Amino acid sequence: MNYLSTRGQAPAERFCDILLGGLAPDGGLYLPENYPQVALAELESWRGLPYADLAAAVLGKFIDDIAEAELLRLCRRTYTPEVYRHCRPGADAREITPLTPLAPELALLELSNGPTLAFKDMAMQLLGQLFEYVLVQRKEELNILGATSGDTGSAAEYAMRGKRGLRVFMLSPHGRMSAFQRAQMYSLQDQNIFNLAVRGMFDDCQDIVKAVSNDAAFKARYRIGAVNSINWARVAAQVVYYFKGYLAATRETGAPVSFAVPSGNFGNICAGHIARMMGLPIRHLVLATNENDVLAEFFRTGCYRPRAAAETRVTSSPSMDISKASNFERFVFDLLGRDGARVRELWAKVDAGGAFDLSGTAEFARLPEFGFQTGSSSHADRLATIRLARERYGVWIDTHTADGLKVALEHREPGVPMVCLETAQPAKFAQTLREALGAEPPRPAGFENLETLPQRCELIDADAVVVKNFIAAHAG
Ligand SMILES: *Cc1c(COP(=O)(O)O)cnc(C)c1O
Repeated sequence: MNYLSTRGQAPAERFCDILLGGLAPDGGLYLPENYPQVALAELESWRGLPYADLAAAVLGKFIDDIAEAELLRLCRRTYTPEVYRHCRPGADAREITPLTPLAPELALLELSNGPTLAFKDMAMQLLGQLFEYVLVQRKEELNILGATSGDTGSAAEYAMRGKRGLRVFMLSPHGRMSAFQRAQMYSLQDQNIFNLAVRGMFDDCQDIVKAVSNDAAFKARYRIGAVNSINWARVAAQVVYYFKGYLAATRETGAPVSFAVPSGNFGNICAGHIARMMGLPIRHLVLATNENDVLAEFFRTGCYRPRAAAETRVTSSPSMDISKASNFERFVFDLLGRDGARVRELWAKVDAGGAFDLSGTAEFARLPEFGFQTGSSSHADRLATIRLARERYGVWIDTHTADGLKVALEHREPGVPMVCLETAQPAKFAQTLREALGAEPPRPAGFENLETLPQRCELIDADAVVVKNFIAAHAG
């Protein structure tokens, strides 16, 4: 299996070669040269597989430069009930992503049972195993540099902690994360994890990462890598749970199922799109946004208009507060018949801070073939949906999952199960849960005293030179 760039000007590469990098050299994102197909008979044969074995079967279609037995071993190490243990009372942790029925033809797929209580653990934990495997094979080391406003950084740290050949340098805005998020990251005591609390905002952290990464000599000398959401292996790992959710929601292979996906950077739902392109009988992919509705706007109007930072709202579903959706380029590449030259043209506008408009084009007219439906949610909608979930269905849900459920309920169809992806646990967003329900959300076992654990971080000025010096002193 070869990988090509959405901008059409990068040489084809194999899976392990694109694993450790980020963008393709032409600035595009990697995608497989074609989508492997899964016939219904094969899909049927996967029914009843444990999650790890299903993951190896699905990922094996995208990875042909890791031996089959090795890939299975890595998946079995990743997807264990010990790692994904924070499931709902009554759910079976051996399922890894249990399906919780809410009503006939309506269910939640639990994706947030991993160590950081958000769905990013589903892919990031596998990434940790894959990185270690490839680095040991190649006798190489990697220093991961990232910026986080909360969820991604902690998922990366919990995936990479204690891994050979890997160090993580994670920048976070000092005093701007919730006490829970801060404790989650800063309480890690592993020697290969470095938390740098920056006197500044998240944007300052991101600017520093960019500045360091743009210094090609420094980047090469210290082998700087990234684990951001455009990483292909993360998207591929997410394809697996669409297959899992489909099989759990159906008795008969071939029956249609819809998925509702709380969306920000378009990574999660991009995996759904790929599962559908592989032949999984997905009827609709329901894309839910919060007040930051740049994606819903495109599907409605054909105009993709990334927002300026000042136009990006701070909401109570903060992991969806995005101004531009970094994985969206992958979908547009498919929508345009995989025409890299046109993607290059469109993203020349985006990269210059502009917008593009596909309304009136033949390609935009074909959009319905891809099965998307969209909707948006507000803070008031979130509160109402959190209450509804508690009162009508007897479940606690977090603010992001609430955005998904709100839009899902607007798009149900008789005879088509609607599977809502649960992307985080309510304990992470206790303040909004209290506002909605007047009660404290349940904390999974092991998190009771999180905020009182000893913390370890380095407080620094918002200065790329300081960060470079720190890396140089600790990169070994
Ligand atoms: C990252 C995240 C999202 C958005 O997912 P994308 O892949 O960026 O679309 C939604 N909910 C939660 C809780 C997240 O952490």
